[in-house]
Amino acid sequence: MATRKAMVAGNWKMNGSLELVEQLSDAINNVKSSEVNIVLFPPFPLISAMIASGVTTGTQTVSENTPGAFTGEVDAQLVKQLGAKYVLVGHSERRSIYKESNDTVAAKFARAQQVGLTPILCVGESEIEQENGQTEQVVAAQIDAVINKLGVAALKESVIAYEPVWAIGTGKTASPEQAQSVHKFIRDKIASLDSDLAQGLTILYGGSVNEKNSELLFAQTDIDGGLIGGASLKAESFTAICNSAK
Ligand code: PEP
Repeated sequence: MATRKAMVAGNWKMNGSLELVEQLSDAINNVKSSEVNIVLFPPFPLISAMIASGVTTGTQTVSENTPGAFTGEVDAQLVKQLGAKYVLVGHSERRSIYKESNDTVAAKFARAQQVGLTPILCVGESEIEQENGQTEQVVAAQIDAVINKLGVAALKESVIAYEPVWAIGTGKTASPEQAQSVHKFIRDKIASLDSDLAQGLTILYGGSVNEKNSELLFAQTDIDGGLIGGASLKAESFTAICNSAK
């Protein structure tokens, strides 16, 4: 069985400052270890400062288009040139607030890989979908949009983040068993197409992860780390979460 390296990613959303880059990067540089990949996703204007600090950096979205007349959009190639390594695609806030469809998310995934950025594909069901027992159906459709466009092999150079929408920023976390069951579903689904790829694939959990619940979540067989929102803005909490993934 493939051994997967743990990953802890911090999504700052539309928060942060140059001062916070300095504070968090100092803290992260102190806990860095070969056992865990730590990546921060600050807002676009802060990515150069974050990269210069030595912390592995990604962006929270990119355009699915090549350069052209798209006012306000950001080209993936430029992000890559600046030194970023990752990009979040399909975060639930992009899907709900900016109406990004599964097809748009798949196009962003494709564009990221085209320029050599590693996409982190965010998937997850809403509260109503969960109550209606549609979790697996929703997550499968979100992943299938990428597989149908690019083939399963495209998932090799990617990460999947399972983030139940009802758990993001709400303080309600999926139980370790609940999260493990969806992570196993995702890995088994991909294994039915390519078992080696599925065993090597990093699958993160996100949704109100903090320093108190991270250890139990990360101990689950198919949970390889976390995508952290609110707690990634606090050096003490974020480094404790990183340490719990080692
Ligand atoms: C997120 O933004 O992806 C997230 C999981 O946020 P939080 O940890 O605040 O729930």
